[in-house]
Amino acid sequence: MTATAGIDQAIDLIRKSSRIVALSGAGISTEAGIPDFRGPEGIWENPDLLDQMSSSGFNRNPAGFYQASIRLFETIARAKPTLAHQLLVRLEKLGKMVAVVTQNIDGLHHAAGSTRVHELHGTLRTGHCTKCGNAQEMSRFYSEIESGRLKVPLCLSCNAPIKPDIVLFEDLLPADAWDASVAAVERCDLLLVFGSSLVVYPAAELPMIALSGGAQLGIVNLGGTSYDGVAAVAVRAKLGEFAQAAFDAFGLE
Ligand code: NAD
Repeated sequence: MTATAGIDQAIDLIRKSSRIVALSGAGISTEAGIPDFRGPEGIWENPDLLDQMSSSGFNRNPAGFYQASIRLFETIARAKPTLAHQLLVRLEKLGKMVAVVTQNIDGLHHAAGSTRVHELHGTLRTGHCTKCGNAQEMSRFYSEIESGRLKVPLCLSCNAPIKPDIVLFEDLLPADAWDASVAAVERCDLLLVFGSSLVVYPAAELPMIALSGGAQLGIVNLGGTSYDGVAAVAVRAKLGEFAQAAFDAFGLE
């Protein structure tokens, strides 16, 4: 199947579905300038970075954690939603998209305007004091850290380090986001995977849950996934190209 035929088939699947859940991953945000974690310089190939970005790494050395991740955090803080994020908003407005489940920590689904978003790995837009739990908006800290004026954001009330609200390696997923995602996926008629390699668990269980409930699976991803063989359609295309084709097909501005 050519990429164009696959795109048409995936759009047709969206047209025929009425209770769609999207499952997004890092690939939906690469066209916003946020790198995914793959490739020789990606985090998965760097054990030191993995250690620094773990929960125990943060507790041991919060300054090292911020230093290791600040370039990514600043890039994310400045990024704007892509056409694919906007497509999911339009599908919600058309009454088709019942929920967006995301593995991303970039907050771009909220920024685009999706209203039912389950962030399985949290968000780095906000943070909490590790001692008293005070909530904080994080973006001002990231620019201060990147410019070298700050090493670790500290709580104004108790002076303890502030941690972004993201799920670090070794952390458990937020139970409410996971439970809501499973409930949405169990009731959907189409699970639309956008930009995920589907190798990170437990998020990668969601396509199996959807299929067990009788839903169809549609995948738009540049690389292959282990679910391609059981999907109704698996398109190897850039999400920007796919989203533009869907905007055109549905007559959206
Ligand atoms: P992944 O890095 O494992 O896979 C991304 C997939 O997207 C790849 O298969 C790649 O081929 C595909 N892709 C890249 N650009 C694309 C494009 N323009 N169009 C279509 N497909 C494209 O990502 P994952 O499955 O989300 O798992 C990685 C973990 O890393 C997640 O837990 C996530 O939280 C985290 N992460 C998040 C961000 C973010 O918030 N934007 C960025 C990097 C990593």
